[in-house]
Amino acid sequence: MSLEVPCSWQPSSDCQGCSIEGRLMCRFESKDMLTFLMNGLAFGVTAIAGTIHAGYWWALLLWLAYSLFFFFVWEARILCSHCPMWTEESRVLHCHANSGVIKIWKYRPGPMSRWEQAQFIVGALLWLGFPFIFLLLGQEYLLTLIGLAGAVSAVYGLRQTGCSRCINFSCPINTVPKPVVDAYLERNPEMRAAWEASGYRLGE
Ligand code: SF4
Ligand code: SF4
Repeated sequence: MSLEVPCSWQPSSDCQGCSIEGRLMCRFESKDMLTFLMNGLAFGVTAIAGTIHAGYWWALLLWLAYSLFFFFVWEARILCSHCPMWTEESRVLHCHANSGVIKIWKYRPGPMSRWEQAQFIVGALLWLGFPFIFLLLGQEYLLTLIGLAGAVSAVYGLRQTGCSRCINFSCPINTVPKPVVDAYLERNPEMRAAWEASGYRLGE
């Protein structure tokens, strides 16, 4: 049985009269993707340039391999396959954070389990922390501090501009207010049923 496509991928004319229009990144917009990329720019540049400067350029190949595994396979399964952005009729994901990922998993409309949330935190920290190992091995202490500042600023920026409007509501760093989550679920009955089957209750 095929699942109903959430409102995020229905014609935008269906959004007329929606009480939460403008509160969420519920439709793909390239400006959201640009904001996400700008948030991570300082960390990314410092991590790459710093690792090369430290003499461990080859470690970037390991980081790339882990990135491909994490974003295309692991994170895609535990986080993104629960997200309404995953339901676009396309083999390639389009969303503010992970556009370009090839969708190898089926959409799962229910919320992430605690185990998946824990895996996501561990996997993301490993990804974020990886370059610092080589900056420290190369005694690049100033670049380590700049990279740390970039990482903190990226996470802070993401929380401010992304997590409070992202429609993957069960992500452990999502901060969308419950009334907005409830309103989105009310517009998407199959997702709502899957959430309620996991114990979620609207309005409580
Ligand atoms: S929640 Fe759904 S219906 Fe409302 S604005 Fe977003 S995509 Fe449109
Ligand atoms: S918005 Fe976040 S959770 Fe949803 S598909 Fe994109 S990266 Fe994954």
